[in-house]
This record gives sequence, C-alpha cells and structure tokens, in this order.
Amino acid sequence: MEFNLFTLVFLIATFAYVITLLWLNVRQDKSVANSFNKVPDEFGEKITLEDHQKAAEYTQAKLKVNHFEVMFSTLVLLVWTLGGGLNWLDNAWQAQAFDILDTGVFFIISLMMIGSVIDLPFSIYRTFVLEQKFGFNKTTLATFIGDLFKGLILMLIIGLPLIYAILYLMGVMGEYWWAYVWLVLTGFSLLMFWLYPTYIAPIFNKFKPLDNLALKDKIDNLLTRTGFKSDGVFVMDGSKRSSHGNAYFTGIGKNKRIVFFDTLLKGMEDQEVEAILAHELGHFHHKHIRKHMITSFTISLLGLALLGYLINQPWFFHGLGVETMSNHTALILFTLVMPVFSFFIAPISNALSRKHEFEADAFAAKHTNADDLVSSLVKLYRDNASTLTPDRLYSAFHDSHPSASIRINELKRHA
Ligand SMILES: [Zn+2]
Repeated sequence: MEFNLFTLVFLIATFAYVITLLWLNVRQDKSVANSFNKVPDEFGEKITLEDHQKAAEYTQAKLKVNHFEVMFSTLVLLVWTLGGGLNWLDNAWQAQAFDILDTGVFFIISLMMIGSVIDLPFSIYRTFVLEQKFGFNKTTLATFIGDLFKGLILMLIIGLPLIYAILYLMGVMGEYWWAYVWLVLTGFSLLMFWLYPTYIAPIFNKFKPLDNLALKDKIDNLLTRTGFKSDGVFVMDGSKRSSHGNAYFTGIGKNKRIVFFDTLLKGMEDQEVEAILAHELGHFHHKHIRKHMITSFTISLLGLALLGYLINQPWFFHGLGVETMSNHTALILFTLVMPVFSFFIAPISNALSRKHEFEADAFAAKHTNADDLVSSLVKLYRDNASTLTPDRLYSAFHDSHPSASIRINELKRHA
C-alpha cells in the first residue's frame, strides 16, 4: 500500500462525509427531542400527543441505527480500499488464471455477494426489531427469505449479463469505451423502467385493479379531466411487508401505472384518495419522471467520462490500495468511493425533488380539493409516524418531500 496525495484527498473527503452526516443526525435528534412534549399548533386538533410522541421516538430510533450504519459502512469502505480488501480479492481471482473478462465478472459478483452478507444484519434489525417495535412490521420470516432469494435470482438473470456487457465494452472499445457503456446503461435503465411495473414489481407483490366502484367512478372522471392515459390504477398488497402506507407513479410509455398501497387506502375517505391520485397525476402532468431520468442520465455520462480519465491514472488505483490497474477494479473503486465525493449533491437533487412535490400539490389543489389533500397528508404523517418537527438543515439535506408544516401551509394557500 502506497500513500499518495490522492489517499489524503480521499481521507479528507471521507472525514467530511461522515462528520456532515453524523452532525445532521444530531441536529435532527435535538429538533425532535425539543418538541417532544408539544404537538405543533397547526396539527393540534388532528394529531394526538401520543401519536406525536410515537413519531418522535420512531424518528430517534431510526436515527440511532443510521448513526451506527454511517460509521460502520465507512469502516467497511476503508477496509476495502486502504485496508487492502479489494486488492486481496483481486489477487485471489487473478490467481485462478481465468481470462481477464471472467476474472472481472467473478471479482464483481463475489464483491456484491459479500456486500449483501454484510448488509443482512442491518436489514434483519430494521425489519424484525425496529419496525416490529413500533408496530409497522408485517414481514414474516418466509417473506423475508423469499425476498432475499428473488433478489439474488434477479441479480443473476439481469445483473450478470449487464456486468459482462460493461466489462466487455471496457475491454474492446478503446479510448471512448465510456460512451458505449453509457449507451448500454441508458438503454438498460429505460428497459427496466418499462419492464418494472408489469414484470418485476409483481414478482414481489400482488397488484389488483381498484375495486371500490364509487371511488373508481371518481377516479375515471379525474383521469379523463386531466387527460391521463395509462395501464390503470392499481392496489398493491403493501400490507404483506409493512403497515406503512404510500402511493407512487411508475413506468414509462404505455406501461405506466399509479399504485396505491392497500395500507394507504385503509382509513382514507374517497375524496382523500382522489386528492392523492391527483397529486400523482401532477407528477405526470409536469413530466417529473422524464426530467428526473434526463438528469440522472446526464450525471451518469459525466461520471463515466470521469472514470474514462481515472482508469489511466496509476495514482487513482495505488492511492486507494489497489496494485493492479484493471477495468474491473477501476469500476468498483469508482462505485465505492464516489459517494464520499458526491454526497454534497444530495441537497441539490432533494431541493429539486421538493420543488416537484410542490408542483404536484398545486396540480392536485387545482383539480381536486386542497383540504382533502391536507387531511390525507395528516393521516399519512400520523399513520407512518413521520416527524412533524424536523431540523431545517437535516430536512434540506435529506428530504425528498417538503416537511409537514411547510407543505401544508403551502397547500392552504391554494384552498
Ligand atoms: Zn409526490
């Protein structure tokens, strides 16, 4: 292992990354603790002190796990890189005398497997301890194990050929390999977006057309009014895993769907469901998915071009603890190390996402009733035990949705 200037840059970036995340967690924890004994005034009649305190305790419990996870995953990152873990794994596969393409594929697959094993205790803890304690867990052990196997099989069917294709292109396409890899990755993501609602999501959940007829009438009416053509509105058995409720918009082209969790529909009035649907249609109307895809494809092109440069720089490999320069080690080093350099982008992309949420809310207020959306949101905050009093900076950094009171005050302007 040789320390160079880049090692130092990497260590400083990693330190800044960890300190920022932990500092934000501490702020969030304080903000939640400070308002523990009082429901914010604007929610006073709708959320009981008991619900409010449950949300506070739940938020704090999740922060504690995240605190540990940030420190642990950073330690793992350092072991893989400066600690020589990747170098060891690479040498072990090189010693097998496969050709370079197979060596690369085995290296990446084995690394992903080890990563999944390391993540497993966290995932078990979240599901069966944390979520269980707050009454949200509905996942049985059989479902949990089934999910693991389905994930593994999907990874082999979809991920393995993709890894092969990427390493192959890196090997044969010359100086501008990254442009070809980008084309393949972009085509692959578009295909996945298109396949996901109809072919992949049903592997994990059951989807049924909405069967509440009075509601269906309302919804058809809203869809016609807003000019939305799709595969339809579906109800998903989210209750198979958790009692958290949600709704989302998925797919592209003709394969797009609006999906309600069965857990969200429970306890909502028809006009509240209609308002939530209108919010999702707002995302469609403003082409948020398309904008998001264009942004992420642009970022991935820039990232790959950067990797196209780094892959020829010995200091990049040696500074991160890898002796042999190769396509597969470059790819993995880049994937592992990138987050500590790029995490400061999160507040920007989240700000954009929050802007999209406001736009979708405004759309819902225009086509349905803002008060219905407000009351459905309050139910969602309550039933999901989401905190109503987040720290301003924590929220600006991490939250893809505006915080409760900001969002509701904005909606009230439309009412
Ligand atoms: Zn939204």
